[in-house]
This record gives sequence, structure tokens and C-alpha cells, in this order.
Amino acid sequence: MSGMANVESFDLDHTKVQAPYVRLAGIKRTPSGDAISKYDLRLLQPNQGAIDPAAIHTLEHLLAGYLRDHLTDVVDVSPMGCRTGMYMAVIGEPNEGGVLRAFEQALRDVEAHDRPIPGVSELECGNYRDHDLTAARQHARDALGQGLKVQETILLSR
Ligand SMILES: [Zn+2]
Repeated sequence: MSGMANVESFDLDHTKVQAPYVRLAGIKRTPSGDAISKYDLRLLQPNQGAIDPAAIHTLEHLLAGYLRDHLTDVVDVSPMGCRTGMYMAVIGEPNEGGVLRAFEQALRDVEAHDRPIPGVSELECGNYRDHDLTAARQHARDALGQGLKVQETILLSR
């Protein structure tokens, strides 16, 4: 037994999900009782490919703004290390259908984005040369074409 804390996403059976999807990964309570909900925003089927680093970096920059345009109280949007999607933390308990619609609308915004990527300069970004808007837009188009859904959590049986 190690002392490492349990991590919710390691209990998800990644072979049973069907991307693209949004999934409520968990809800945390702060000491004062506020809820913080964590969502998976999965674009690619796990273990069947990965978004190139430059493209997921651009998705991170674009979704950081566009998701906040469509969903209130977003705390954080960050790429999954496996590069198949994003994590999102939001204050409160928005219903999954609302999160799904916000993600769809944000992806439509990404697909249509034909201006400079926000936050791309040596001052604003930790790797500002590493971006790919064309590929980011294509990933948004692909996910919308496949149709997003709400994914329920299927736990590993072990
Ligand atoms: Zn950056």
C-alpha cells in the first residue's frame, strides 16, 4: 500500500467510454460548503490517438475564453496529459446538459476562429511558438461532426 491519494479518473474504465463527450468526474465541497464540479471534456477516443501538442495547446488557449463565454464560474480548463481532451473545473453544480451545450458552442467558436490566437506572445505564454490553429479548428470540427454526448461514469471493476 502506498500513501498516494485515490484519483477519481483512475477508476474510470477508459475502454467503455465513447468520445467525444462531457462527463461529470466529481464534485468537491469546500470547507464552507460550496461545490466545485470537475468535468472531462473528451475529444478523442482514449488510446486511439492523441491531439498533437501544438494543437492541444491552441485548444487550451481558445477554450479558456470560449468556454467562459458560454458557462459561468469556470475555474480552470486544462489539457489532459494523455492529449485526448481537457479537464474543466467550475463553481457550483451546472447540469450536464448545460455543460454539453456550452462545450458544443465553444467548439463552434473554435471551429470559426480565424483571428490571432489569444495570449500568444513571449510575455503571455510559456511556449508561444508551439501552436497550431488549423489543427485545433479541425479537431473542433471533427468532434462536432461526430456529435457530442453526456457520458456516464463506468467504474473499473477491481
Ligand atoms: Zn500557452
